[in-house]
Amino acid sequence: MSGKSSAKKWYSWYFDFNLLYRILIGLVLGVILGLVFKEKILWIQPLGDLFVRLLKMIMMPIIVSTLIVGASSVSPANLGRVGLRVIIFYLVTSAVAVFIGLAMGAVFRPSAELANVADAAAREAAAPSLAATLLNIVPTSVMQALVNETVLAVIFAALLIGIAISFLRISGDERKQHAASVLYNFFDGVAEVMMLIIKGIMQYAPIGVLSLVAVVFATNGPKVVGSLGIVTVACFIGYALHIILVYLGMVKFLAKLPIKRYFQDAKDPFITAFVTRSSNGTLPVTMEAAENLGVPKDIYSFSLPLGATINMDGTAIYQGVCATFIALSVWGYGFSIPQMGIIVVTATLASIGTAGVPGAGAIMLLLVLDSVGLPVTAGSAVAGAYAMILGIDALLDMGRTALNVTGDLACTTVVAKSMNELDMKKWK
Ligand code: ASP
Repeated sequence: MSGKSSAKKWYSWYFDFNLLYRILIGLVLGVILGLVFKEKILWIQPLGDLFVRLLKMIMMPIIVSTLIVGASSVSPANLGRVGLRVIIFYLVTSAVAVFIGLAMGAVFRPSAELANVADAAAREAAAPSLAATLLNIVPTSVMQALVNETVLAVIFAALLIGIAISFLRISGDERKQHAASVLYNFFDGVAEVMMLIIKGIMQYAPIGVLSLVAVVFATNGPKVVGSLGIVTVACFIGYALHIILVYLGMVKFLAKLPIKRYFQDAKDPFITAFVTRSSNGTLPVTMEAAENLGVPKDIYSFSLPLGATINMDGTAIYQGVCATFIALSVWGYGFSIPQMGIIVVTATLASIGTAGVPGAGAIMLLLVLDSVGLPVTAGSAVAGAYAMILGIDALLDMGRTALNVTGDLACTTVVAKSMNELDMKKWK
């Protein structure tokens, strides 16, 4: 036997085994290792960090390339049509998510003893104003936006470039037409290369998942008890309800698509988001799922990066539950109906401003709390309750991020179907 074929033999079992099962086994092993070995297992963290770094590495190139290709391959009129539908879906589902979060808060009434709380002063000044959040969509420097990975600003710039290319491609001037085609082909090539790289990175996912999960359970496991346990249960039941009522409802009744087939591909980004806690990091996997579900590239290359940034249904539910927890802990009573209205509006807008990175939702929660007269100030009871939430943020973030990306994919699929652009051959 040659050296080459025997080398193939010892690792080929790994690649031959179904990727999803490998990822699930990684997840279960991670939980067990984290709970059994606790801090002794923390040495494993670099293996998880490597997975996150690999995903992040291709995040910006993929957003820029697919968005430019997407925007420039649809006619300006079509882009407007897709864009409007997607944005309406995103906003409506986010608003419903806040309702569900508030309802979960009202049903479970999570409340805490605030005697020994930690100080949350460090987070105090971090909430940006609404005007600043909206203004920041327009970058003052495209290069800086790329380097700082301010996704919304990059999306804005890439969209403008893509739209400009699409106009030039239909211009009467041959020189301009040629120049635009060169640019288009360049970005199309970048997008294809990135897609191939993602396929390779996903082969590492089972190991990355095992390590990330082990670290979360090693560091947070024992803390997730008591009143915070109720917050967690309320959030996760809210997440599950939103998936069943909104996403599955949309896919089954609005788009009239088989749910089982939908899950075949939707589960990959769900699991990746759960362990990486980053919508942005999961974006390549969400895009692959959209491709496998038959969504045309010119739709998903626009809607998914946008969704990873502005559509945060899990974050909206989390904000509804946590705001209720803090109100009950501090005031002893929950929100009035007008206050709930304010929370729905602010949390929907806050979810637009929430970056798709781990822990971002906790910062935007400050904006929501402020809007109903619960500002986090140093030493206050609100700060105490807020600090408690921060203690279990990793766990809550796993669920909300999984929901965030599931929402992007569901809305994208339903919009594609509503425009008769879904490749139904992939659903047979
Ligand atoms: N981690 C979430 C995401 O990436 C954002 C959040 O913290 O709510 O979607």
